[in-house]
Amino acid sequence: MKQSSASDWAAQLAGQTRKANELSRHLDVSDEQRAEISEATAKFPMAITPYFLEKALDSPALLKQVLPTKDELEIGAADLADPLGEEHDEVAPGLVHRYPDRVLLLVNDVCASYCRFCTRKRMVGGRKLPFTKKRMQECFAYIRAHEDVRDVIISGGDPLMLPDASLEYVVAGLRAIPHVEIVRIGTRIPAFLPHRVTDELCAMLRKYQPIYFSLHFDHPDEVTGRTVDALAKLADSGFPLGSQTVLLRGVNDDVDTMRELMKRLTRCRVRPYYMYQCDLAIGIEHFRTTVEKGLEIVAGMRGFISGYACPTYVVDLPKGGGKVPVIPEYLKYQDGNRLVFRNFEGREYSYTEPTIDEPAVKRFPAVNE
Ligand SMILES: *Cc1c(COP(=O)(O)O)cnc(C)c1O
Repeated sequence: MKQSSASDWAAQLAGQTRKANELSRHLDVSDEQRAEISEATAKFPMAITPYFLEKALDSPALLKQVLPTKDELEIGAADLADPLGEEHDEVAPGLVHRYPDRVLLLVNDVCASYCRFCTRKRMVGGRKLPFTKKRMQECFAYIRAHEDVRDVIISGGDPLMLPDASLEYVVAGLRAIPHVEIVRIGTRIPAFLPHRVTDELCAMLRKYQPIYFSLHFDHPDEVTGRTVDALAKLADSGFPLGSQTVLLRGVNDDVDTMRELMKRLTRCRVRPYYMYQCDLAIGIEHFRTTVEKGLEIVAGMRGFISGYACPTYVVDLPKGGGKVPVIPEYLKYQDGNRLVFRNFEGREYSYTEPTIDEPAVKRFPAVNE
């Protein structure tokens, strides 16, 4: 396993590809394409770490996630600047309180690489929500005053872009609040910049357990090489690891790719947590597919691969409705006490319920009758 040091990750950040003309060192970029990339990056910046770019040059599904295109300039009829209504639920700058017992804390607005389909395009890219201790103090004050908050999700941007001392400031500040039971760190660093996962980082965070990681992975080609080492280091340090995947047209919208991704993650001790329907952020319609397609993929995973490898498919509803699970229908119809299901292979099986009080009452809608 390669040991990572602070100079490794600083070198990766110094080597980011940020300009259209820098890409031509690695890719054939026409003049027309260069102009389109410049136009797209004026709206939402490009940054690609050398580590990720090297993989992406061999994997169209990876390149598509980070390479700007003219499609981003098309604004769909349903697109929203703030698709999840986070600003509506903002209770302090960068603190979103939507659910009863947990809050989302956006600590910064920069990432190691920028996903073109970012749901927080409105604020990510390094100009809107920088890390400051003063802002963190305002967020801590809110959390301290709200004893119902027992779970804090640290996100951004990418929290692991902060130096260890700043990240420790956040985590220690949260841990000092007695009713905060768990802290989660949402990050795509293991995919983009695994060098950041150093022994020092793990040792520092271990002092503040329980800390969960929500890791963003979209394609099996991301789960290779140093990324696998970084995941082992995090798991060996005792952090429960979960993953989040965005369903993306032309990237991972087929059963085989999604199965392979989930199997690789599980092998790396990452428990697939959520698979997201792609949000309505501006200029990303070309990445979206239908919920029907998502359901087909879910049905192609459940039963075929370990239950541990099956994430929950959710739509994060526009305007702050929150996450709702979408599940293929396995219950076909009810006939008195008898429920008729289809199994993962499509075969019919029935289950007879006990007679409790009113057996004739239909509790589920009758389908196919
Ligand atoms: C996703 C999210 C959470 C966490 O939801 P879980 O279902 O507990 O993972 C909390 N707050 C906001 C605003 C969110 O978007």
